Amino acid sequence: MKRDIENVVVVGTGVMGAAIAAHFANARFSVTLLDIVPQELDTGEIRQGLDLRSPVVRNRIVKGGLERARNTKPPALFLPEYAEDIRLGNLEDNFRWFTEADWIIEAITEDYQLKRVLLERIDSLRSPGTIVSSNTSGIPIRKLASGLSEDFRRHFLGIHFFNPPRYMKLVESVQAEETLPEVFEKVAEICDRQLGKGIVSAKDTPYFIANRIGTFAIQTVFQLMSECGLGIDEIDQLTGPILGRPKSATFRTLDIIGLDTYAYIVHNIYESVSNDEQREAFRVPALVKVLVEKKWLGDKTHQGFYKKLKTQGILTLDPCTLEYGPRRETHFPSLDEARSFPILEERLRFLINRPDKVGEFVWKSLSRTLVYTANRIPEVSDSIVDVDNVLKWGFNWELGPFEIWDALGVNTVADRIRQERGMLPTLIEKLLSTAEKRFYTKQDGTRCYFVPDSRHHIPIPSHAGVLFISDLKAHERVIRENRSGSLIDMGDGVAVLEFHSKMNTIDGNLLQLMEDALAVAHDSFLGLVIGNQGQHFSAGANLQFILKLAQDKNWQGIDQMIRNFQRVNMKIKYSPCAVVVAPFGLTLGGGCEIALHACCLQAHSETYMGLVELGVGLIPAAGGIKEMLLRTQAKTHNRPTPDYVSHLRSTFENIATAKTSACAVEARNLGFLRDTDGITMNRDRLLADAKARVLELSRQGYRKPLPTRGITAMGNRVLSILKLGIHLARRAEQITDYDVH
Ligand code: NAD
Repeated sequence: MKRDIENVVVVGTGVMGAAIAAHFANARFSVTLLDIVPQELDTGEIRQGLDLRSPVVRNRIVKGGLERARNTKPPALFLPEYAEDIRLGNLEDNFRWFTEADWIIEAITEDYQLKRVLLERIDSLRSPGTIVSSNTSGIPIRKLASGLSEDFRRHFLGIHFFNPPRYMKLVESVQAEETLPEVFEKVAEICDRQLGKGIVSAKDTPYFIANRIGTFAIQTVFQLMSECGLGIDEIDQLTGPILGRPKSATFRTLDIIGLDTYAYIVHNIYESVSNDEQREAFRVPALVKVLVEKKWLGDKTHQGFYKKLKTQGILTLDPCTLEYGPRRETHFPSLDEARSFPILEERLRFLINRPDKVGEFVWKSLSRTLVYTANRIPEVSDSIVDVDNVLKWGFNWELGPFEIWDALGVNTVADRIRQERGMLPTLIEKLLSTAEKRFYTKQDGTRCYFVPDSRHHIPIPSHAGVLFISDLKAHERVIRENRSGSLIDMGDGVAVLEFHSKMNTIDGNLLQLMEDALAVAHDSFLGLVIGNQGQHFSAGANLQFILKLAQDKNWQGIDQMIRNFQRVNMKIKYSPCAVVVAPFGLTLGGGCEIALHACCLQAHSETYMGLVELGVGLIPAAGGIKEMLLRTQAKTHNRPTPDYVSHLRSTFENIATAKTSACAVEARNLGFLRDTDGITMNRDRLLADAKARVLELSRQGYRKPLPTRGITAMGNRVLSILKLGIHLARRAEQITDYDVH
C-alpha cells in the first residue's frame, strides 16, 4: 500500500462524486475528477459549431457536475475558489491519470454492470498499492471485486459517504475478505482526521447498516400511515424533533432524497434480503409508486409529498385524492404535553404510553424499528455502539436504537412486545439474562456497552485525541459550576470552561464563572480551554436579559453588564497562562468577542463566526470591535498606509453588515482567525487539540501580551470615507435609517 495519500481521483460527478471531490479539496488533497464523454452535442454546442472531438464538449459532463457542486446550498466547498484546484478530465482522454492516483474513489451510477466495467479498467491501469473504494449504497463489495487482480482485491473496499459529504458525519466502511487491514486503517485515519468523519465498520451485507435500518424505519411509517389513519403533515409532526429526529422528519426528507431514488433502494433491498424475517416490509409503498409514475419525485421535480408555490406557500399532498392543499397543523394534546419534557428519554417514555393515536403511532413505529434492529445483530454488525452511531451520524437521530431501548426500559419494552407478539429477539433474551438489563452501563464513570457473545458489558473503546466532556464529568472532574457553565479538569494541567446555558448564551453567571476560571487556571493549571460540546459554541450575549433591562429602562444594569463583559474579556487577553478558545458552529456576537480576546484559537472547520450585533440593531460592545481594529492595524504594522484604510473599510463593512463566516477558513479570511490559529476537521477532536495547544504554548514558556500602546486615530479623512460608505449603502436601500444612526 502507498504510504502517503496525496492524489485522490474521484470518478463520477453526480450528486455524490462532485461533492466528495469538493470535500477532499476542502482538506487540501490534490484532487482529480473524471466522468464520461457525452454521446451527443447539446443545442448550445451545435449552435457554436462544436463537434464531439472538441475538448469543451468532452469535459462538459465533468465540468457541469463540479459547477453544480459549486452552487449547492449549503455549499460543498469551504471557499468557491477551491473548485479551481480540482483537475477535470474524462475517461477517454485522461484515463492514464489513474496511474498517478494514490486513492481512486468510484462514485458513478448505482449499476453493477457499469461499476464492474469501470473497476476492471481501473484494475488494468492503476499502479500497485493504489487504494480503490466504491461509494455504492448497497452492492456487495465482494461481488464488485470478484475476479479482479489480487493486488486490486487487497486494496479495495467500500467507503460509503452520506449526502451531503461535507456535512454528514457518517462514513460506512465495508471491507471484503481480502481487503488488507492496513488499507482500512489508512482510509479510516484520513476520513477521521482529515475529512472530519465518523467511520463505522459495516459487514458486507445488503445496503450495509444505515440504509437497511433507516429504510425499515421509513417503511414502518408508511405502514402506520394507514393503520393509524394519519396524514402527511401529521406524520411529519410526529417523526421530527419530538422523537429526537431532524426537522425534515419523514416526508420532507423523502422529497429531498427523491422518490425515484427511494423506490429504487427499497426495491433493491427487497430483492437482496431473501432471508430477512421482515422482507415484505420492503415492498415499495403504493403511494410512492403512484408519485414516481406521475414524476412527482420531490425537490428535483418541484413537487412530491410537498409542493411549494410562490403564491400559496408550501402545500401538502392528500394521499387519497392526490391533490395538494394547505398545510395542516393538527392539534394533538399529547404532543403539547410531550413538549414540556426537554429530555428526549423522558419524552419518549411519556409518548409511548399515551392512550391515543399519538401513543399508538409512536409505540408501534419505535417498537417495530427497535425489534428489527435488534434482529440485525450480528448480521450487519457485531457492535451495538456502531449501529447506534450509524443512525446518529447518518440520519441525525439524537439517540440510536439501542439507546432508545435503554431510554424506554428494556424490560418494559420486552414485556409489552411479548404480550403483543410473543417472541423477543435473541439479542434481547441474552441481554435480559444479565444483571444489568441495559445495553449501556457505567462502571466507575466509564461508559460500557453490551457484547452479546460474551454477555458482558465492556468499556466503549476510547480513541487517542478524542475527548468528551461527559466522560470528564462522569469521572468527577468538575472543579466548580453554576447554572450556565462548568469548570472541569481535563488532566495534564489543563482546565476547560464549558458553557451550558440555553444556546450557550452569555449571561451574568457565565461571566462570573469565567472570571473565577481564569483565577483558578492561573493558580493551579498550565492553561485554560474555553469550549464545549453543545450544538453551537455560543449564540452570543443573552439578549432576552438585555431586552428586559431595556424595557425596564434599567440603563445602569445594561452598563454594568457591558462593563463586566469587557473586564472579563480583557482578563482573558491578559491572562498570565494561555487561554485557548475552541469555537465551532455558531460563534456569534459575544461568543465571537470572547474568541477574539484569546491568545490562540483552535476552531472546528465548520465555524460560523461573526460580530452580528448590527443584525439586531446593537453595536458589539464587549471589545470585539477594538480587537478587530487592532488586528487591522497589525496587518500594516501600525502604519496608516492606504492599505490600512482598505483593510479598515472591509473590517467596518463586515461589522456593519453583520457578516458571518461560512466556515473556519472564511473566518480566517475575515480576520476572526489569525494565521497562527489552528483548524480541526473532526469536532470530536477539537477539545483535545485545544488542550494540546495550551500544553504546547505552556511548554514554549507562554507570556501574556504586553499592553497595547495605542490605536492610531485616523482622523476626519478616514471617517469621511466610512461615512460615504454608509451614505451610499443607504442610497442603495441596503440599510435602514436606524442602521445609519
Ligand atoms: P448520480 O446519478 O447523481 O451521478 C452518477 C454519475 O456517474 C454521473 O455524473 C454520471 O455521468 C456518471 N456515470 C454514469 N455512468 C458512468 C460510467 N460508466 N463511467 C463513469 N461515470 C459514469 O449518482 P449519485 O447519486 O452521485 O450516486 C453515485 C454513487 O453514490 C452511487 O453508487 C450511489 O448509490 C451512491 N450514493 C448516493 C447517495 C445519494 O444521496 N445520492 C448517497 C450515498 C451513496
